[in-house]
Amino acid sequence: MLAIRTWYHHSVIQLDTPVQFVKGIGPQIAKTLAEKRIVTVEDLLFHLPFRYEDRLNPRELTDLKPGEMASVIAEVRGSALLRTRSMPIFEMTVGHGTSSMKCLWFHGTYLEGKFRSGQMVALYGKVEPSRSTRNFKMIQPQFEILPDNPDDESHLLEVGRITPVYESLSGSRLASRWIRRVIFNLLEELRGHIPETLPTAMLHRLNLPCREEALRTVHFPLAGAPMTQLQASGTPAHRRLIFEELFYLECGLELKRRRLQQRAGFAFETNDSVREAIRQVLPFHPTKAQKNALGEIVSDMRKPSPMRRLLQGDVGSGKTIVALQAMLVAIQNGYQAALMAPTEILATQHYLAARKLLERASRRYRITLLTGSLDDAEKKLARRRIFHAEADLVIGTHALIEEKVEFGNLGLVVVDEQHRFGVLQRFRLMKKPNACEPDVLVMTATPIPRTLALSLYGDLDLSVLDELPPGRKPVDTRQVSDERAEDVWKLVRNEVAKGRQAYVVYPVIEGAKDDQPELDFAPPEPEPEPKPKKSAKKKTKTPALFEKPSIKSATEMYDSLRATHLSGLRLALLHGRMSSDDKEVTMRRFQRGDIDVLIATTVIEVGVDVPNASLMVVEHAERFGLAQLHQLRGRVGRGAAKSYCILMTSGRVSPSAEERLAAMVRTQNGFELAELDLQMRGPGEFFGTRQAGLPDFRVANLLRDRALLELAKTESARFIENPEGTEDERTRVRTRLKEAWQRRYGLLEAG
Ligand code: ADP
Ligand code: MG
Repeated sequence: MLAIRTWYHHSVIQLDTPVQFVKGIGPQIAKTLAEKRIVTVEDLLFHLPFRYEDRLNPRELTDLKPGEMASVIAEVRGSALLRTRSMPIFEMTVGHGTSSMKCLWFHGTYLEGKFRSGQMVALYGKVEPSRSTRNFKMIQPQFEILPDNPDDESHLLEVGRITPVYESLSGSRLASRWIRRVIFNLLEELRGHIPETLPTAMLHRLNLPCREEALRTVHFPLAGAPMTQLQASGTPAHRRLIFEELFYLECGLELKRRRLQQRAGFAFETNDSVREAIRQVLPFHPTKAQKNALGEIVSDMRKPSPMRRLLQGDVGSGKTIVALQAMLVAIQNGYQAALMAPTEILATQHYLAARKLLERASRRYRITLLTGSLDDAEKKLARRRIFHAEADLVIGTHALIEEKVEFGNLGLVVVDEQHRFGVLQRFRLMKKPNACEPDVLVMTATPIPRTLALSLYGDLDLSVLDELPPGRKPVDTRQVSDERAEDVWKLVRNEVAKGRQAYVVYPVIEGAKDDQPELDFAPPEPEPEPKPKKSAKKKTKTPALFEKPSIKSATEMYDSLRATHLSGLRLALLHGRMSSDDKEVTMRRFQRGDIDVLIATTVIEVGVDVPNASLMVVEHAERFGLAQLHQLRGRVGRGAAKSYCILMTSGRVSPSAEERLAAMVRTQNGFELAELDLQMRGPGEFFGTRQAGLPDFRVANLLRDRALLELAKTESARFIENPEGTEDERTRVRTRLKEAWQRRYGLLEAG
């Protein structure tokens, strides 16, 4: 260890040098940094500022406008900790010539003794009007105490320039100032030694700066750099770094797709007998969108390379029947087709629907259901049928990708509601030990904007169902407070009187006490807690103020509605903690129309299809996400009758929940809602990065950088088709590509 250390001391710092050997960073700090996935010098340099402060032209205190975010530099005039009745407040007055400003920090005890009069501080925060004087104030501004001595070397990094502000790497220890200094020194030491990673010709063509210049100016912008562009990560330096990251992502996807085209798959035939088989079972005229999508799918299936296609279509757009037709193509060619669904309810529903449809055919199809809840003997039997190719159509949950399941001659795999599956799982299924690889069709209702989908799933081809089956009437959507619950229950009764069915959805299963959101992939069902006997329910001693607002639960409301507002109707309860058998029985009864109102949790969110249901009531709608609400609403409006979606709220609704609900009332367009959701939550949350297997970007942001993503896609395709640059540059791109994919996108590479 010592030897290595010495060696590094004497050698030059390089981009791949471990951070531990950087001046000012020892093993201890290196360990902290590693937790933030900063291991090398390069990683550290890619910890970019999240905003900038213009300390070259600081704002005059008298120029500030209330409501704006501003950064000012001023002198500390005095400070004190005020102990008010509700909390300690740290108050500081800062000034500049004759003007002054107040700063307040609630619970600011930790600031006591931190400031001295006469010190210069940089402050950043929202400007608030102040009651007492004509001056302004800032509440909880971010601050930095500036160095006293103007001769101090680090002084130059703090003031008199556009100053980068970093997200701290570990509390106050490795905060902005520390990062600034370390990165500044690194950039000095590396001057002239940051190799280019893209061909120079490409950079010229795209008008992007070289890597070293980009890194240098992104951390320490030159005087005069436009502040708005900086704050939006839109300077040429930013664009260059973002483009680089996306370029390597897209190159990898493009290569993967090309590699796939060289692999062996089945070339299915579509002759008259195949067409006849499909015609026999088709229950309705397909929409134009369905025809097009099937056309694209079948054309892939006829090719000798394996299909990898994403079928995207809003809730209710009719993806299932398209998939079923594709599966019939495979089966008519003598191969097995498998359909994997995210939940048991859905798998069962698909199984029942397929059985019913295929009954109309002249030949007998052998359909097998395989889910986790079958008993061992049943599973064994199912596995044997699958192995000996005695099952033509296999429908199941993720039980299908358990190792023990081996297919006799699997030709096509359909994965329903892809966003519920990890990418890894998806690929394990593709890798059955066959000489030829099965075709894969992935279906999703997540309306990812088309450009994003194309760029992100560069290894998948995309078909879109952009049209709903005919006769759908828009779902009349309303937001009501639960003070009007009586009216809502009346509506439920009305619908049931008309022979329709309704859903009533709750965010939790049992009382407020175990305020637990329903899980889609519930861990092994926990022993239900012994229900406290109603009479034994003691008044808690906690003052009312601290009690959580009570949340209505599916179980309690089922009991209550049955006894009161909905008495006499046929009600049933459905939630994730029920046994699979019970769930299935309930779903079947609802499907058959033996149940009027289904009181449920979000287990019904995905894919459940009961066209006669015309009313969806969501209680505590303020607690649901936009995508969830959209999915829930998608359960109604599937038949000919006019449908309703009632979003009931309870208590105070936060502004962002208000916005979600308003959007639901305003539009039914999944793409529009997805855009909004994406904007409100950011890409990570939206896609559920881990679930979707999305790469973890270090500088790119999929929402902000869509234009660059497009550019990177075109450029990567162009580069792979016809690489530009010198031989040397091309080799470097290739090497880097390998590294980047191994290190950053390990998950995707698994395919
Ligand atoms: P999703 O795309 O959400 O999976 P489904 O495949 O469940 O949608 O289809 C929604 C409903 O629309 C189903 O009841 C299905 O039978 C019906 N449907 C699908 N395609 C058509 C069509 N072309 N004409 C009429 N009804 C259709
Ligand atoms: Mg579906």
